[in-house]
Amino acid sequence: MSSNCIFCKIIAGEIPSVKIYEDELVYAFLDISPINLGHVLVIPKEHHQSSSTVPEATAGRMFRVGSRIGIALKRALDYDAFNLHLADGAAAGQVVMHVHLHVVPRGAEDNFRWNWRQLSYASDAERAEIAEAIRTRLKP
Ligand code: AMP
Ligand code: ZN
Repeated sequence: MSSNCIFCKIIAGEIPSVKIYEDELVYAFLDISPINLGHVLVIPKEHHQSSSTVPEATAGRMFRVGSRIGIALKRALDYDAFNLHLADGAAAGQVVMHVHLHVVPRGAEDNFRWNWRQLSYASDAERAEIAEAIRTRLKP
């Protein structure tokens, strides 16, 4: 438990939350400011700031539970789809520094658009260089 972490306090029951699911590895609850109603956060019970330090079994559980909740959202609230979203680091939009997987229920006409863009590589050489730089730094 990290003493100043609001999500650790939620797991400890010191801050209220609306629980959706819990097991020995993860806890899931309603986001307080949902993109769409039913938006859920899945968090590891152990405090980790980044997804990169979460043990594989827990990371796998987060993803699995997130998907199951996504399906439950479609069945329960008649949504068409869902996004699984994880912001790792402030520049990526992470505000709460206890890693969390967003399960965002989506409707075909919910008028929410991710601010997505599509750049291109200047050349095949640039693309190859970037791919090689990533591959050589990929830790097991
Ligand atoms: P992120 O920007 O990915 O760090 O997302 C943090 C999310 O946590 C936001 O969607 C907030 O609405 C949500 N949040 C912050 N405090 C609480 C809380 N006490 N209970 C539920 N959700 C929260
Ligand atoms: Zn924490």
